[in-house]
Amino acid sequence: MVNLILRIFSLFLILISLNQTSNAQTNNSLDGSLSKFRLNFDVKTYKIQLRINPKLKFISGVNEIHFKVLKSSKVIQLDLDTGMKIVGIISDKIPVTYKRFGRAIMLSFQNELTKNSDYSIKVSFEGFPKVAKNAPWDGGFVWSKDSLGKDWVGMACEGEGASMWLPCKDTWDDEPENLQMEIEVPQGLTAVSNGRLAGSQKLDDGYEKFRWIVSYPINHYNISINVGDYIHITDVHTRPNIESLSLDYYVLKYNELKAKKHFEQSKYMLRCFEKFFGPYPFQNDGYKLVETPYWGMEHQSCVAYGNNYKNNDFGFDFIIVHESGHEWFANSITAKDKADMWIHESFTTYSEALYVECMAGPERAKEYLKMQKPKINNKQPMLGERDMFYHHADNDIYYKGTWILHTLRNMVDNDTLWQNTLYEFHQKFKYQTILTEDVVSYFSKRLNMKLKPFFKCYLENAKIPVFEYFILHKNGLHELHYRLKSPVSGLEMPLLVSISKSRNDMINATSQWQIIDLPYEDEKLFVVKPNSYLIEIKKINK
Ligand SMILES: [Zn+2]
Repeated sequence: MVNLILRIFSLFLILISLNQTSNAQTNNSLDGSLSKFRLNFDVKTYKIQLRINPKLKFISGVNEIHFKVLKSSKVIQLDLDTGMKIVGIISDKIPVTYKRFGRAIMLSFQNELTKNSDYSIKVSFEGFPKVAKNAPWDGGFVWSKDSLGKDWVGMACEGEGASMWLPCKDTWDDEPENLQMEIEVPQGLTAVSNGRLAGSQKLDDGYEKFRWIVSYPINHYNISINVGDYIHITDVHTRPNIESLSLDYYVLKYNELKAKKHFEQSKYMLRCFEKFFGPYPFQNDGYKLVETPYWGMEHQSCVAYGNNYKNNDFGFDFIIVHESGHEWFANSITAKDKADMWIHESFTTYSEALYVECMAGPERAKEYLKMQKPKINNKQPMLGERDMFYHHADNDIYYKGTWILHTLRNMVDNDTLWQNTLYEFHQKFKYQTILTEDVVSYFSKRLNMKLKPFFKCYLENAKIPVFEYFILHKNGLHELHYRLKSPVSGLEMPLLVSISKSRNDMINATSQWQIIDLPYEDEKLFVVKPNSYLIEIKKINK
């Protein structure tokens, strides 16, 4: 009884706090926090039925949510954008009552849901979903036309969350283990989603239903909708000792020939990334590119492609390489909290440099990294605030992230160890959701280095460490005094420095001043390799 009163009281408190923020959009603690009404159940499967009316820019559907109860309760929380209507919620043919507080939907069941039992509910919904202002950055639905005037629809919701259009448990830490998606679109158009096509069926009312099956865990913002006058191109990626991987491309009909030629590079991308990170993670679902009316997005086994078949100065299509790199980092390994999104973008942006290294060698990869470096801001920490669906304000989770990994690689100074570490990182955490702490502890252990201060320094502070040095002239010798200045205590960085024409040394920079003798040559020969580390180098006067 006490328990029940406590529970009612805590629900009352939550409802009050929900009410106070009922107009809140995504960037608040309500949508981002793991309340007890989210932690008390684990999503197993979504069976989504969706009808898309491009003419009206209207969608309607049902999400059948299968879940396991982790803690007995009468209340669970789902999410749906305030602009979308809930038509009804039923469980075992009995209506479930609910209240909406901003995006949060608090469902109250008649009987307590019992711990360790499986349940399912059907949530019917409809509405005019948010229209994207500038997808994929400012997400929503993109209602477009191809150049022949046919409907061409896309959707991107990484920033907004899937509850922008779908009633679901919109958190990053809980993923459905698999998914079924049935999309009905006007006949003449094709609907493409994640996973494999399991069939299509023409309906009597002028619509056609496309059924897609995803057989791996999938994060919510990856659930993908694409509608267009598509043609289907198939190809195969073969590799020794592993089953071939099917490649499926859905492009606008008039781009077929262009796409066939341009998408050949997907195989190079797969070959390189499989070498660095292990086999493509979604073998059973296949690899897929879908032409979209916006630039790109990492939708799992359904990568959104809208880069107009263009390569960059390094000879590759940025969208194919970057968004597909996310299949390993973001889709297979997913951050538990949006605050930790650097895990997605840093490893993926770094994968671009590794792709260049794989295709054109290490010197060209250094040029690629050099091109990325000026984009670093150092204005705010890369690790955001947890439990609030944090939005990063700049691109440091991309380029600074790349440079943190590049710096670490040069600190390790052992390419075989570094490659094995990256490869095993993916093997260890694939299909899981993780936090920054997991990355730090894995890399520390695998590399046998104390990396907690290193990651703390780069992720939790805006400023990068400063390598301070001065040279003293004593009895005809040069004495190099150096230290590493950072707000984090215990930071140690092995740095490769050139100290003479013929000598490179590895020095271990810490917060303590240290001294080494430089050979009696021009002291200007002392250089910390500037293209190897993300540090500020400062010569001071003493
Ligand atoms: Zn990305």
